[in-house]
Amino acid sequence: MTTTITSHHFLSTCSVLGSVLDLEGGFKRDKRHHPVLQAACYLIWELKLSQMMRSKNSNKHYFTKMGSRKKVHAFVRVRPTDDFAHEMIKYRDDNKTIDIHLKKDSRRGVVNNQQTDWSFKLDRVLHDASQDLVYETVAKDVVSQALNGFNGTIMCYGQTGAGKTYTMTGATENYKHRGILPRALQQVFKMIEERPTHAITVRVSYLEIYNESLFDLLSTLPYVGPSVTPMTIVENPQGVFIKGLSVHLTSQEEDAFSLLFEGETNRIIASHTMNKNSSRSHCIFTIYVEARSRTLSDEKYVTSKINLVDLAGSERLGKSRSEGRVLKEATYINKSLSFLEQAIIALGDQKRDHIPFRQCKLTHALKDSLGGNCNMVLVTNIYGEAAQLEETLSSLRFASRMKLVTTEPTINEKYDAERMVKNLEKELALLKQELAIHDSLANRTLVNYDPMDEIQIAEINSQVRRYLEGTLEEIDIINLRQIQEVFNQFRVVLSQQEQEVESTLRRKYTLIDKNDYAAISAVQKAGLVDADGHLVGEPDGQGFGLGVAPFSTKPGKKSKSKKMFKEQLSSSARKEGASSPLSGKDLDVSTSKTQLTPSSKDGDVKDMVVRDRETSNTEPLASDSPKEELRPPRPSTPPAKPVAFEDFKNERGSEINRIFKENKSILNERRKRASETTQRINAIKREIDMTKEALNLQKSLREKQGEYENKGLMIIDEEEFLLILKLKDLKKQYRTEYQDLRDLRAEIQYCQHLVDQCRHRLLTEFDIWYNESFFVPEDLQMALKPGGSIRPGMMPLSKIVSPGEDDQDRFSQLQQTTLPEGPDSVSFYNAKVKMEQKEAGWGRQHLGGRMACSPHPFWKSWGLSACNSWPWTNKKLSCLLEKKNRRGRKSK
Ligand code: ADP
Ligand code: MG
Repeated sequence: MTTTITSHHFLSTCSVLGSVLDLEGGFKRDKRHHPVLQAACYLIWELKLSQMMRSKNSNKHYFTKMGSRKKVHAFVRVRPTDDFAHEMIKYRDDNKTIDIHLKKDSRRGVVNNQQTDWSFKLDRVLHDASQDLVYETVAKDVVSQALNGFNGTIMCYGQTGAGKTYTMTGATENYKHRGILPRALQQVFKMIEERPTHAITVRVSYLEIYNESLFDLLSTLPYVGPSVTPMTIVENPQGVFIKGLSVHLTSQEEDAFSLLFEGETNRIIASHTMNKNSSRSHCIFTIYVEARSRTLSDEKYVTSKINLVDLAGSERLGKSRSEGRVLKEATYINKSLSFLEQAIIALGDQKRDHIPFRQCKLTHALKDSLGGNCNMVLVTNIYGEAAQLEETLSSLRFASRMKLVTTEPTINEKYDAERMVKNLEKELALLKQELAIHDSLANRTLVNYDPMDEIQIAEINSQVRRYLEGTLEEIDIINLRQIQEVFNQFRVVLSQQEQEVESTLRRKYTLIDKNDYAAISAVQKAGLVDADGHLVGEPDGQGFGLGVAPFSTKPGKKSKSKKMFKEQLSSSARKEGASSPLSGKDLDVSTSKTQLTPSSKDGDVKDMVVRDRETSNTEPLASDSPKEELRPPRPSTPPAKPVAFEDFKNERGSEINRIFKENKSILNERRKRASETTQRINAIKREIDMTKEALNLQKSLREKQGEYENKGLMIIDEEEFLLILKLKDLKKQYRTEYQDLRDLRAEIQYCQHLVDQCRHRLLTEFDIWYNESFFVPEDLQMALKPGGSIRPGMMPLSKIVSPGEDDQDRFSQLQQTTLPEGPDSVSFYNAKVKMEQKEAGWGRQHLGGRMACSPHPFWKSWGLSACNSWPWTNKKLSCLLEKKNRRGRKSK
């Protein structure tokens, strides 16, 4: 039950707020029952409301409810007369249509095109109608609608004496003959009585427009001070009002009548003292209504105004040769009524978007009361006598035009911010209580829904940090405010970390903005990076050691990484000197570039480096590159590779170079021996052939001379015998030499393999050395020095710069990042490494001191002593071959 009430409150408040405040974010319907969410909603509301309270201009919020379009109601009231022109004025049975028939003017002659018949269809013709009936017909609905928030305008139009004032005000001395105005006031107060649920306030004002001047007919009241400045018509989004016009609050009918009479009296007095004809002024009596519901939760209220307009006489005074004051009056009246007519014609024309309201005071003052959003009624007062027929026709034409005008009555709905805040505060308190009940039912004690203080926020920050470090497994959810604060603190921690990382990287690198095309094209021109921002020659942007982030990699915030890249490059440009841009190929330190290819097998290592250099089509050799000393200052331009290679062979690479040279000389020596053996074999073969030939010759001679046999044994001469011995000896020699040659060939093949491996290592070590000597940031050199935990060069720079990892961790990470088949192949390579470690143990055991291996730099750099085929290349071939030969001899 409580939940239902809560939800109801929640939804109603939400919908009010949603429409009034246009709350962003919205509330998910399925989540609305959750007490925590509800609490959060309240808190959001609280925020919104306090914002609203702070806002000076948010006192009132205006809303309107659009209605449907409807036509202006136009009525005709005929002044009672004993001399009614029955022949000329005829009413149809529908009580709406007036037919006017005019006798032809005989003076116009035989050919007379004068129009003589008119028909006007209106909303009702009021003939001999009582004041009561007129009010019921004309005004009752408009007034009652005003209390619902619709503006209304009732206007009397017609020539002087036709009964406009009688209709509007009535006979003030006779209650029965009172007009629309007092009746309207009566109705308003009656309706107020009938609506106890609403607090309705009534205010009135009485304005007179005479010769385009504004007069306040209620300014004579003692509490209204004399107006210092003349009244002006002011427009604002809420409508049109007369600045300086007194508006009087009337709490009861009697007060309202007093005000009406005061105005009427002033009107009459003015006509005497100012010598003005009251029928030549326009009078606008306005009743302002404001209706508020007495229900506290309803902040909505409606406002409206009823304009009761008694227009000046519409007769064309100009015709009657008036002069002086009368002429002036006539001019103004004609003007204002003609502007009123123009405005009404424009209002009736759907295509017109501009209505000339501001041409005169009358239309300007009535701007929001003519057409627009109000209920509008026109009473056209006419005479029934034949003598006034022309003016009657003119008045009826005006009425017909008015009938064409459509309006769209709209409720003037407003919201009282102050009242709304009060209501919401009440609602909030109620919902907090509701929430407390929910919490206690759910055994959630001590849940605080108030805004967090600094200590609580600091605690959340610490929780977030511990969570990120992994020392806190979970952050318990308490309420929505806490969840939001957790997110906030995540953001705070993240941005702090970003700043830290950025400042660390800034100290080390220069980054380039991806959008800084000038800088990018400059570095591309310099061959430093390719179009994607990768280092030139770098496979997949995974270059070792340089730490230049490719444009496409986004380790953190995109813009920040860009910046860093730019700075790194610009600072490197500073270091290298702007006039000597780096060659991309000189930077190329990746192993892929210096891998041995089959065609280069027999080539010298130096040749290969030179070839590498030549095919790279880069800058001319920097012949003046300084030689590297013990730890010489980094040269402004990295030396050309062939030059650097010479340095390398004399320094870091001297040992491997020496072994490589020795191995190579052994290989050459074996090749030479093989060649000599081949020559010897060929010579023996030739001699065998010759001996065989000689022997065959001897044999044939012997056969020709006759053979001697002794007891079945063939007797041969000495010469033949010697040839046979020689052949036998030669064949033996041949076999021995051939065996040697076969052994030599096997050795050569073996040696070739070792020399290749040795060469490969030499180049790899050179690349690493070259990279680290000229491109690894200098502050990292310390870590890479002998005795440092990291062996230079053998890991990506990104790994080197992340502190706090032990070697094994980094080893695992390296495995994961550099495995050729990606992380899925981890277990495969782990097993392989283990196997190789085992083998290395076997190698040391069996080779003993003589064959002690030097660990592969890869393993050594990770503090491991595993050795694979590499150490074999470090040894002189001679000792290996010796061992091999020993084994071979044993097996023979
Ligand atoms: P207007 O304001 O149009 O100039 P009034 O309302 O002053 O004309 O009317 C002129 C005279 O005619 C007044 O004396 C008024 O009492 C009288 N009169 C006008 N219409 C009626 C009516 N329907 N019944 C009785 N008297 C009327
Ligand atoms: Mg009048």
